[in-house]
Amino acid sequence: MNDLLIKSFKPSKKLILFVIILVILFSSIIIFYSFAMDTSTHEETSTEEKKDFIKWVDFNVSAEALNLTAKLDIDSHNKKEEVTYNWIELLAYLSCKNGGNFKNFKAKNLNNLVETLKSGQSLESLTQDLKFYNYYYESYMAVLGGFIGNYSIEVQQEDGSKTYEKKYGLKAFLPIAKNYSFSHYDDFGNSRSYGFKRTHLGNDLMGSIGTPIIAVESGIVEHLGWNQYGGWRIGIRSFDSKRYYYYAHLRKNHPYSEGLEEGMTVKAGDVIGYLGMTGYSVKENVNNINVPHLHFGMQLIFDESQVDSPNEIWIDVYQIIEFLKKNRSEVYMANKETKDYERKFDFIENNLIE
Ligand SMILES: [Zn+2]
Repeated sequence: MNDLLIKSFKPSKKLILFVIILVILFSSIIIFYSFAMDTSTHEETSTEEKKDFIKWVDFNVSAEALNLTAKLDIDSHNKKEEVTYNWIELLAYLSCKNGGNFKNFKAKNLNNLVETLKSGQSLESLTQDLKFYNYYYESYMAVLGGFIGNYSIEVQQEDGSKTYEKKYGLKAFLPIAKNYSFSHYDDFGNSRSYGFKRTHLGNDLMGSIGTPIIAVESGIVEHLGWNQYGGWRIGIRSFDSKRYYYYAHLRKNHPYSEGLEEGMTVKAGDVIGYLGMTGYSVKENVNNINVPHLHFGMQLIFDESQVDSPNEIWIDVYQIIEFLKKNRSEVYMANKETKDYERKFDFIENNLIE
């Protein structure tokens, strides 16, 4: 019986061929399916990697526009006005109207906007159809996001004692200490010939050797040490990680303030180093810069892939330096042996104590 059954199932050549085709078809379906699953997960990760971030910013908001919008923001908050202003929103709105070019900025345009907001219109309704509003807002948040806010600062009382005062206002400082003179002009994009042909990606502040250099904004010291171009330099990343501040050509032999190290937190207004003329040398601690100055630069980072890439975004900080002249950190010689300076009035970021 069994024999018979087996015999009757004796496969013909056609059947074998059919089974082989079936197996091939089935396995290719499995392979295709697993491959499709695989690519779909890959697509998910690559869309995550390819998330949209800003690739370029031309920052040319004028010091006048920075001053006026900052004043509106700070005053409206301190006086607890009915309508409070966010200077970055105001600037982003103005940019939509002038194409991001503040060369022809008129205070009248800002006043018109303020009147409209005072009359009860919301900024959301005014900007909902402005195509580039979000781009400008995000760009200016990256540049100026740490400049205005809550902080506490030591204030000298009439009897000479110091107490902390809570404030809302400008909490970014000029990189040159108070009572030290400096000069500068808008030299962003000028050509430089040392090394390879390149453009100048910052602002040079000419001053005397040894002038205490001030941290513009609080942050973490990311780089410290010798760099062929910048000489003794300091790189500080803001807490929101969007800004990288670059301070270069610091003083030979004694470039940094006492105890400054990579990884350390510094506060806006702290003394971080001293003006000098080091750089343009592979060899360390060499003065190869002709005129003593601080090279000050700001790089914007929207995505970490932009760090150390050909797509770094350095902005023109000339107008920012002009704007920051109104907030300077006073210093004194704190250590007569090492000739190190420190800030006179301590400062506390609100987000550090709360
Ligand atoms: Zn420079």
